[in-house]
Amino acid sequence: MKVLVLNCGSSSVKFQLIETSLEAIENATDQILAKGQIEKIGMTTSVVRFEAEGKPPLKETPTILEHKVAISKVIKMLTDPEHGAIKDEKEICAVGHRVVHGGEKFASSKIITSEVYEQIDACIELAPLHNPHNIKGYQISKALLPNIPHAAVFDTSFHQSMPNYAYIYGLPYVLYQRHAIRRYGFHGTSHRYLIYRFEHILKTPREKLKIITCHLGNGCSIAAVRYGQSIDTTMGFTPLEGLVMGTRSGDIDPAIILHVMAKEELGLHEANTMLNKHSGLMGISGLSNDMRELMKERDKGNERAALAIDVFCYRVKKYICAYAGALSGVDAIGFTAGIGENCALVREKSCAGLEFMGIELDAERNRSINGKEGLISRDSSPVKVYVIPTNEELVIARDTVRCIEGVF
Ligand code: AMP
Repeated sequence: MKVLVLNCGSSSVKFQLIETSLEAIENATDQILAKGQIEKIGMTTSVVRFEAEGKPPLKETPTILEHKVAISKVIKMLTDPEHGAIKDEKEICAVGHRVVHGGEKFASSKIITSEVYEQIDACIELAPLHNPHNIKGYQISKALLPNIPHAAVFDTSFHQSMPNYAYIYGLPYVLYQRHAIRRYGFHGTSHRYLIYRFEHILKTPREKLKIITCHLGNGCSIAAVRYGQSIDTTMGFTPLEGLVMGTRSGDIDPAIILHVMAKEELGLHEANTMLNKHSGLMGISGLSNDMRELMKERDKGNERAALAIDVFCYRVKKYICAYAGALSGVDAIGFTAGIGENCALVREKSCAGLEFMGIELDAERNRSINGKEGLISRDSSPVKVYVIPTNEELVIARDTVRCIEGVF
């Protein structure tokens, strides 16, 4: 069946049309029929990119002021006789929606019924920057495609298997009871994709594997996955916790926030912006949140760029070690997303000196594998280290099919 995967952000709509079924999932024969994105929605010039299998790609810069117009445009492009992938929108059998936060209510993906919708709506207060846009995407596409099932696939649900000692903060317990303050974790669809690939690569069922998955993009998180279940992950109540990211701080002493708010006379909004937008690689380097840029500057002798990369990699390394401990050993480590897939330097520095725990990177393999799946550890390395390009859309499409077929 043809599943439209929608990922709606505040000013963007990313989408893919994927042909999949239970049989295709089993045989890994699912097919991407078309993909694209509409960015800068609400600005004078939006950017539309679209490409269907075997058709000439499309790039346009119209003015798209609202998501409703953007999603209508997606359907128009999919059915366009020259550029599109299908003849009629009736060929779309279902829509899979990325939903960032499912709170404690969702441990798996769900068909969106009115009851599920209400529960997703109730999660808005946990992710006020993300869930409203995901919900808007659902409302608009449900109105445009009313007669097919729509499913919600949550970034958080994979981590609902964390034990309470991993998700409870050292705060008054009443805050958990009253306000659901706990660790949730994100990037679940990406971590799950790596686990799925590892089963195939290592020819071992997930129930026998202890794996550390490193999603290193603009947002970054690592997960410790024991026998197919997430037992810990670096992001917490929000996607701010854990690793140093493009513009987010990751772990800091919480007292710093109070201290800096007082010293710099910052309000809540400014403090939030500082932690989410002006920190991480950007904050340390004072230059950029883009790893490529920082590597260039480092090579030219820029010390702050070098420091930002060092801090980034040291945090990754610390969490790899912590999670090897949490898992009582590790069989494999996977690197994914923009930095994880493409940046040999970060992978090398993050694994440096870990031979004592069986992590032996092969320098040549690591340098030569970029942006594609492959082994980067030595043949003799007890822990197998791989680069695995992530595919969150495929996980969303497959979950949509599984929800429809009632197979989980
Ligand atoms: P993502 O959020 O997954 O798109 O990842 C974005 C991050 O990946 C940015 O920091 C980019 O600089 C980084 N990135 C993408 N390509 C490369 C590359 N070839 N080398 C190093 N970093 C890269």
